[in-house]
Amino acid sequence: MKAKTKVRELTGYLKELQDAVGDKLRVELPDRLLFRYDALLQGEVPLAVVMAETTEDVARTLKICDHHDLPVIPRGGASGLSGGVVPVKPSVVISTTRMKGLKIDREGMTATVQPGVINQELQDALKPFGLYYPPDPQSGRQATIGGNIGENAGGPMCLKKGVTGDYVLELEFVTMQGDVYRMDRSGVDLPGLLIGSEGTLAFVTEAKLRLAVLPRYTQTARAIFNTLEDAGKAVALITARGLTPAKLELMDRASINAVEDAFSLGLPREAEAVLVCDTDGNDLQEVLAEIQAVKQAFDDAGATSSQIAQNEKEAEALWKARKSISPSLGRIRPQRMNEDIVVPRSKLPVVMREIRALGDASPFPLAIFGHAGDGNLHPNIMYSKQTDSWDEVDHLAHEIARVAIKYGGVLSGEHGIGLAKKPFMLEATPRPTLEAYWAVKKTLDPKNLMNPGKVLPELASN
Ligand SMILES: Cc1cc2nc3c(=O)[nH]c(=O)nc-3n(C[C@H](O)[C@H](O)[C@H](O)COP(=O)(O)OP(=O)(O)OC[C@H]3O[C@@H](n4cnc5c(N)ncnc54)[C@H](O)[C@@H]3O)c2cc1C
Repeated sequence: MKAKTKVRELTGYLKELQDAVGDKLRVELPDRLLFRYDALLQGEVPLAVVMAETTEDVARTLKICDHHDLPVIPRGGASGLSGGVVPVKPSVVISTTRMKGLKIDREGMTATVQPGVINQELQDALKPFGLYYPPDPQSGRQATIGGNIGENAGGPMCLKKGVTGDYVLELEFVTMQGDVYRMDRSGVDLPGLLIGSEGTLAFVTEAKLRLAVLPRYTQTARAIFNTLEDAGKAVALITARGLTPAKLELMDRASINAVEDAFSLGLPREAEAVLVCDTDGNDLQEVLAEIQAVKQAFDDAGATSSQIAQNEKEAEALWKARKSISPSLGRIRPQRMNEDIVVPRSKLPVVMREIRALGDASPFPLAIFGHAGDGNLHPNIMYSKQTDSWDEVDHLAHEIARVAIKYGGVLSGEHGIGLAKKPFMLEATPRPTLEAYWAVKKTLDPKNLMNPGKVLPELASN
């Protein structure tokens, strides 16, 4: 006979949560341990976890937590790179991984999704209709639509097509008090305020998303550069000549060598930079002409070699190096601090030089790659939790952020501020702006319970 699982007698707020959501509540330590980290950091073990399935589950949980002054953390795929879902005080985590509702309106070219739908699941569901959802984070196999909205995620395709916020038509969300709202973006754009707010203002429970038609043709080109200046010049020329590639990605010498060590793809190890570019559209002649113009810009900027893929297989081969960076860097050190600065395109060479010098002067291997077309760089600091000091990693990340700010850039392009970059906010953001953020936060979440301790540094006046 099967032994009966012993159900723990719960009391207080845990009993109220159990009455509200039933067996979607997790209170045992082994379960809770799984909800203390994201892809970068680890924090406190949460008090309880709710595996929400419906908007009602979320609303009931929030209401109970608000009543008991319990902090709440909205959590999607936990692929975040800034500590956004990491508990900093005793909290209740609401996980969206069971909120998988997905409806496609083919004629209207929209999808209505619950927040736990994974980006790739949405793309896979759309493909048979010849449609796609352009925001394409490289973490698309793990990241959820809720997390994408929380971070206003981008990806290689966002150079031409825009980021998450450009595709959200409507949001359903729940405030900390448990009130449910549904709003579109006409008039006062309140949903716009929530996009990129990293779960600090309200809990997104559904989104209506705009879709696009898959382009019929794509062409790929790649170029090798002996100096960062030449690669930076190529990016500037492409934009100055009015070209709008679908993707324009850069890898530096350290990334090239990491990929060569791991996969031996035949890239020249002495090259300072590689640029890979896609053009796309529905008119083959236009797409071909644009890729030729990109190649011309590469050559005019001083590329030592450049090539256009002649077929899909060659295109895949050209992209393989860029797509192999993450696993290759993982072989160098087990942990990575994946920085996410954005700088004016014209400043890419000088910014990359200064960051490289900082890396060389530090004890850590450092590689730089990113979405060059947007000026979005990901300097990756590689370290080991076992042998390296987190303070030194954090110090180098701070120095990198300072370089971005010095050249008119910003702290984050797509990974968010979360915990990791919160200390930099005081330096990077004017005081009146921070006060305005706090005023909005206090209006929606007066007790500071919705993902507290993230994004906004405490101000003396608070
Ligand atoms: C290898 C790798 C590559 C990556 N590449 C990219 C990239 O190309 N582009 C990019 O933009 N990012 C990238 N990321 C970062 C990360 O994947 C994105 O930030 C992604 O959008 C996070 O989605 P998630 O579901 O994992 O969110 P989580 O990490 O679970 O949460 C992220 C934030 O959103 C909030 N949140 C989650 N769900 C909700 C909700 N329902 N309501 C309100 N707030 C919510 C959380 O509280 C948290 O603050 C990468 C990460 C990795 C590990």
